Amino acid sequence: MRVRGPCGFAAAALLAVGAAAAPAAPAEEVGARAWSHVVALAAAGPRVAGGAAERRAVEYVAAQLRLAGYHVRVTDFPFPYFETRQVALEVTSPVRVRLSPRALAYSPSTGGVLVAPLVVAGRGLPEDFQEVDATGKVALVERGSITFLQKAENAARAGARAVVVYNHEPGPVVGTLTRPSEIPAVTVSREEGQRLRELVRRGPVLVSLLVDTLLETRASWNVVGELPGRSAARVLLGAHVDSVEGSPGANDNASGVAAALEAARILRLRPPAWTVEVAAFGAEEGGLFGSSAYARSPRARGVSAMLNLDMVGVGERLRVGNTGADQRVVVAVLRAARELDISVEERRMGSSDHVSFERAGIPAAMLHRPDDPHYHSPGDTPDRVRPELLEAVVRLAAQSLLGPVLVTGVAPSPASRPLGRL
Ligand SMILES: [Zn+2]
Repeated sequence: MRVRGPCGFAAAALLAVGAAAAPAAPAEEVGARAWSHVVALAAAGPRVAGGAAERRAVEYVAAQLRLAGYHVRVTDFPFPYFETRQVALEVTSPVRVRLSPRALAYSPSTGGVLVAPLVVAGRGLPEDFQEVDATGKVALVERGSITFLQKAENAARAGARAVVVYNHEPGPVVGTLTRPSEIPAVTVSREEGQRLRELVRRGPVLVSLLVDTLLETRASWNVVGELPGRSAARVLLGAHVDSVEGSPGANDNASGVAAALEAARILRLRPPAWTVEVAAFGAEEGGLFGSSAYARSPRARGVSAMLNLDMVGVGERLRVGNTGADQRVVVAVLRAARELDISVEERRMGSSDHVSFERAGIPAAMLHRPDDPHYHSPGDTPDRVRPELLEAVVRLAAQSLLGPVLVTGVAPSPASRPLGRL
């Protein structure tokens, strides 16, 4: 804490930004500046919602927005804080095998060590549980088809005492139930899942499971920077600043915050007629808590459009989309992409902060790169984030917010010509 207090952290990060500002070509400079924000944010460690690292990241974002000339406010909001204190899973019979489980977020505790037979139940669908007797057992199910919570609920209904979900792709998986389940729920890697399945195929398997978790109400933070325009109309660019337990969260989602910060700097240099807000939302991973708090606040009423950036620094493909019928922001992004000659596919997409705004009736969409095999894992590190991918998103996001399609009744300023040659 002493070494990495907010001030020391911000100062170190600022040095990194200064060092990255050297390249001569402006486009490269945009990418390098954004990338240096990724490095600074990931250096805080996993930014678990409500924790010290998330708070340091919030301070960093606030400092950067102030430097860019924005009026900044940090607000707190309550959310259900979750922490894994201890988790262990072991095969005790017919052989001894120690596994590497992770508790799903909001999993209840086992209340001491639970020893029970292991039963394999497909993907944890209701029909999977009809084929086996899970009563009093630990259910092993594969990831996919339905949510983690649905798997846990189906297992509980079938009488299981706990559920172990194994990944459907190589490696471990970190996930969330989004709210407490009735029985403890953990994940293991696909490799460990296959090993367990093979053991059960050969005969009865006994496992011991210990899950010790903490669930309590805590505070997280939203940081919002405002660049006042000539009109009261407001457009909002946002990205979540928190990350899951055990992951440095470089792409998910230091990349989105970094791109938003760099877009904020660019928009300050060529401001539109309307007001621009750039926000970093806390506590997204556990259930979109920060963006929901904002979307429910009186301030949200003045927001004409919201663009969310989530995972934008890894993978060539870039997507834009949302969950609803209001396509105004998607249209603005597609138009900006044509102006800038950036290729972007349109897809329906949920599971991130734009959904909170859509629920509140505010036009919203997300920019997202879908091809990141390391998200929600310890491998989500800054070296995998590519500056040129960030740069394209920075320009596209900034250009989209200049699009008059987002704000009706306000004439666009001359600055709405394409930002392509910045
Ligand atoms: Zn994310």
